[in-house]
Amino acid sequence: MKSAKEKNITVPGEGRVGPQEILRRKGIKLTHQRLEILRTLMESGDHPSAEEVYKRVKPRLPTVSLDTVYRSLDMFEKIGAISRVEILDDRSRFETRKGTHHHLVCVSCKGIEDFPWPAVDRLKPPPPAARWGRILSGHLELRGVCRDCLKRGGDKE
Ligand SMILES: [Zn+2]
Ligand SMILES: [Zn+2]
Repeated sequence: MKSAKEKNITVPGEGRVGPQEILRRKGIKLTHQRLEILRTLMESGDHPSAEEVYKRVKPRLPTVSLDTVYRSLDMFEKIGAISRVEILDDRSRFETRKGTHHHLVCVSCKGIEDFPWPAVDRLKPPPPAARWGRILSGHLELRGVCRDCLKRGGDKE
């Protein structure tokens, strides 16, 4: 569980808003389940998969199905409230929008950590990328072995 400031998320063109407000502004019917699913993801400092989100909401939503979690996450992604993060060959992971950041991905435990890299954010795309078309967004993914896994000898796996 992170600090209270993560209870609000930044949605493009919407500013920092709470879960209820996001769904309401996008004209999405506020169901208790949807709210709890979005709130759970907002409170998650990591990048959980749909299955992990399901496990986390289950104590609060005993009747929720994994399918509902999948469909809610899909919908939140479509309205731009959350992002899907694809790493390695793993299942999709999700995070609420936090503005530009990059990812440190552990190849051993598949943990994902956010990190800022303002120097990179200021760079213009190099000529091949500029020639390719119009760049809308991007982020860097650095892969390696995290501290915890290094301590456990995870780099030898
Ligand atoms: Zn690790
Ligand atoms: Zn992230």
